[in-house]
Amino acid sequence: MTHFNLAFAARMANVNASVIREILKVISRPDIISFAGGMPAQDLFPYAGLQAAAEAAFTTSDTALKALQYGPSEGYAPLREAIAEQLRAEGIPLDGNQILVTTGSQQGIMLIAHAFLDPGDEVVVADPTFLGALQAFGSFEAQLIPVPLDAEGMKLDALEQVLARHKPKFIYTVPTFQNPTGLALSDERKAHLYQIARNYGVPIIEDDPYGELYFGHERPRAIKSYDTSQGVMLLRTFSKVLAPGLRVAYAVVPDGVMEKILPLKQGNDLHTASFTQMMVAEYLRSGALEQHLVHLRDIYRRRRDLMLAAMDEHFPTWCEWTRPEGGLFIWVTLPETMAAEPLLEQAIREQKVAFIPGKAFFAKGGGENTFRLNFSNASEEQIIEGVRRLGAVMRASRPALAQN
Ligand code: PMP
Repeated sequence: MTHFNLAFAARMANVNASVIREILKVISRPDIISFAGGMPAQDLFPYAGLQAAAEAAFTTSDTALKALQYGPSEGYAPLREAIAEQLRAEGIPLDGNQILVTTGSQQGIMLIAHAFLDPGDEVVVADPTFLGALQAFGSFEAQLIPVPLDAEGMKLDALEQVLARHKPKFIYTVPTFQNPTGLALSDERKAHLYQIARNYGVPIIEDDPYGELYFGHERPRAIKSYDTSQGVMLLRTFSKVLAPGLRVAYAVVPDGVMEKILPLKQGNDLHTASFTQMMVAEYLRSGALEQHLVHLRDIYRRRRDLMLAAMDEHFPTWCEWTRPEGGLFIWVTLPETMAAEPLLEQAIREQKVAFIPGKAFFAKGGGENTFRLNFSNASEEQIIEGVRRLGAVMRASRPALAQN
């Protein structure tokens, strides 16, 4: 027992252990088939390419020692330039000065929250949305205003109603293959969302970790590509396209925001790790990313197809699910009277299969009858067997509806 008085700040009342991380601890047993985590497939990390990139970071005369030294808070200049070039190719005009390399996109979310949110400030979020963002905004005591989704994502008539009545600091959105639903706004809806936000003068935080993981013919546009007046702050990460352990991501922010956020980042971690930034820069320079992405999309598409086919076969007709065109997740909605949490307990106990109940992704409660399935981080055999088992648990737990 400590004799010291550990008096937390009042705002820490909003800070609790993540439900998801707690569940992930329980289900990390090797005998459980887990569709719970949001992790990219480890066996698909480009080990050889990243190893070569690490070698290059250590041996190139320019970077050999810099890789182990403190670096600029904005990020490693060649990496920022490579990112800027990629963004310009996508039709997003900017220069390297608007790019801040961050330690994961999670840091980008946290820095923006820190810079913009006073206690009680309003933030518009999708309902459901990414849990890590809810936690970040909650830790700065924001008032979250959830906007419902339809089959594409955030409903814009509902958003307009919110903006007509509230003065949020910003709209946080994951418009492309959202976590947790897998939904994506069409180009038209993205353009329209931008116009609405612009009309009301409310900035958009566009969190886009999944845009490169598309299963169609081309990369979906970013809302940022419609932005003619620096109203969209774009967050991207190498976590899902290369490896999350690198902790390399970036934020594209207006000049005025950069001036404020940079000192915050310095107070946070001085700068993102030099070595992994150089690895990413070397990897991009090698030209290997495009081929790697083609491979990744191919495998993830196959896993999505397999999971959907198995769900069509084994899931009862009384539940519904999304059919995502990219990303890592499928979202399931049970009948309103059926809760996902007891179903998870039963699934683990009786069938050794796991998922994430959807409740945690809702800012203001609700969603007890929803859950998220991840299809990227399970083998094809596990997907087929796990979905079969899950279907069995669902039927058994709802005998009155099981015949349908
Ligand atoms: N945003 C979203 C929507 C995510 O799903 C994730 C990862 N699960 C992140 C941000 C954070 O990613 P990272 O910090 O690894 O870049």
